Amino acid sequence: MPAHFDLVIRDATIFDGTGAPRFRADVGVLGDRIAGVGDLGYATADREVLADGLALAPGFIDAHTHDDRAVLCGPECMLCKMSQGVTTVVIGNCGISLSPVTMKQRPVPPLDLLGDESWWTFGSFGEYADRLARDPSPVNTFALIGHMSLRVEAMNGDTRRAATDKEAAHMQKRLAEALAQGASGFSTGLYYPPNMMAPTDEVIAVAEALQAAGGLYVTHMRDEANDVLKSIEETLKIGRSVNAPVVISHHKCSQPENFGRSVETLPLIERSAKNQPVDFDVYPYAAGSTVMMPDRLRPDVPVQVTWSVPHPEVAGRMLADVAAEWGMSQRDAAQKMLPAGAISFQMDEADVRRILAHERAMIGSDGLPHDAYPHPRLWGTFPRVLGHYARDLGLFSLEQAVRKMTGHTASVFGMTDRGVIREGAYADLVLFDPATVRDTATYDSPIRPADGIRETWINGQSAYVFGEGATRARAGRLVTRNQP
Ligand code: ZN
Repeated sequence: MPAHFDLVIRDATIFDGTGAPRFRADVGVLGDRIAGVGDLGYATADREVLADGLALAPGFIDAHTHDDRAVLCGPECMLCKMSQGVTTVVIGNCGISLSPVTMKQRPVPPLDLLGDESWWTFGSFGEYADRLARDPSPVNTFALIGHMSLRVEAMNGDTRRAATDKEAAHMQKRLAEALAQGASGFSTGLYYPPNMMAPTDEVIAVAEALQAAGGLYVTHMRDEANDVLKSIEETLKIGRSVNAPVVISHHKCSQPENFGRSVETLPLIERSAKNQPVDFDVYPYAAGSTVMMPDRLRPDVPVQVTWSVPHPEVAGRMLADVAAEWGMSQRDAAQKMLPAGAISFQMDEADVRRILAHERAMIGSDGLPHDAYPHPRLWGTFPRVLGHYARDLGLFSLEQAVRKMTGHTASVFGMTDRGVIREGAYADLVLFDPATVRDTATYDSPIRPADGIRETWINGQSAYVFGEGATRARAGRLVTRNQP
């Protein structure tokens, strides 16, 4: 092993990301790689960090984000993630990606989660990747291409219908181009109007591009409520048809009449996993968040407003309270706020725990970084799993918690040499205190960094220090599936 390192973290308790038992060791970094793990007492280093038994893990991988725009905005924009120990984000989820499509007017929801038309300037994934290379993010980016973005371009904005064969072929071609330019997979959001108008065959036709490129199929399924089992079957069929590994996004059983049904969905996923690769991500909260959809409001699901273009003053308030004040129904009030965003308290805590604890679960925040009053998952997801669910509730060991946010995720997505602590792996690292790590973001006060995350390194560079914030490092890279 080298006699001198750029960085040595001494006497840490290592959680290596594989789920293996923790062990005490020093970790040495040279350049962007881990160059030594063990007793490095003999070695010198430019910088020494005395961990004194604190936990050192691979940097966390946020398996599900909408950070397509945030990764272009510099270190401050990624503070929400780096302060949780996140070093890599998967972008382009739920059918929504910032390329390859440009917009002349405000995009139809939910594409507007990423911003108004001024942000939609990337006519190809290659242009987006060039921008990331020119103006790097502090975090690593792993990109999916969204079905809805492809549809807007291929169907000339007329998306409230199934695509013609010709349009689907055009989307397939555009997806293939993006995969050749460094994107890693294809995402759909079949739950959303107008994507729900896309039949299974259209999705398969577009996803065909994955076959040659070896990409992933990732989906916010058509239905996470009554027809959740049917939706899982549809997802599996799409994956099988094009030989693509499948990731079910933010797995949940939505709406009160479906509470408890993870006892049906998880065994279906488990059985299917014997025949084809299928995994899922999950966030550790019993409320979801997306754009406001007045047609889908229900009296038994409370809603909190996260943003509104015409009425920014209602962000953070309960829709029911605003409706009462405005003297109208919740539906009418929601309509009046559009375009807007919402948090829906639509899940059962027992399902959340059962899904989190499953061995195939990856942790993904699904955070919405441009919301005025975001769901607390944006700032709290990873420390909440480590602190609340692993340490305080004992839902699983800390080794397993770390695996769900590192090694397992890297292996599902094909992030070569990431998600593990071993010699030769990239030096994406997080130092945290297992005794105090916890989320502090709440529904009432959602923009708050975690406690207990001491420092985050990305490709060997210090990117976040507790109490100081983001550094000026911009060492993040575009990570492409199964490429070194
Ligand atoms: Zn989604």
